[in-house]
Amino acid sequence: MISVNNRDFLFTPIADFIISSEKVAHVQVGNNAEHALLVLTKTGYSAIPVLDAKYHLKGLLSMGMITDSILGLEHIEYERLADLKVDEIMQTDLPSIKTTDRFQKGLDLLIDHTFLCVTEEDGTFAGILTRRVILKQFKKYIYSVH
Ligand code: AMP
Repeated sequence: MISVNNRDFLFTPIADFIISSEKVAHVQVGNNAEHALLVLTKTGYSAIPVLDAKYHLKGLLSMGMITDSILGLEHIEYERLADLKVDEIMQTDLPSIKTTDRFQKGLDLLIDHTFLCVTEEDGTFAGILTRRVILKQFKKYIYSVH
């Protein structure tokens, strides 16, 4: 069992650990599923954020969501990709986390998610917080105190 005496690091704001929005691949609500499939394939990411024209976070889109949306009874209906809009198939119930939230909240949420979309108070997309980054910080902390 790891025992951590000084818990201050749990209250560090997550702002320092975010991969900022300009470095994050995303799609826009009006894009079609074909474009999203291209972005996901080319970047190699499992899921990416969906933003509106004002850079507000609207949802999350994964390869699985796209495939699921074109599953026919007999075969995968690739021809539907061009007509399907990203906002018709994206996931909208995302865990909410803001730039001002603390490390502890990020840690708790990242148990169930590989990454989190982080917003400013007004809903503008700020970037992502990944499990990889938080684990690295946690490791650094554990090694420094033991
Ligand atoms: P990683 O921590 O690098 O393994 O990333 C985990 C997941 O976070 C990836 O599969 C993507 O879904 C997402 N992700 C990480 N970095 C980016 C990025 N620069 N742009 C978009 N999504 C990202």
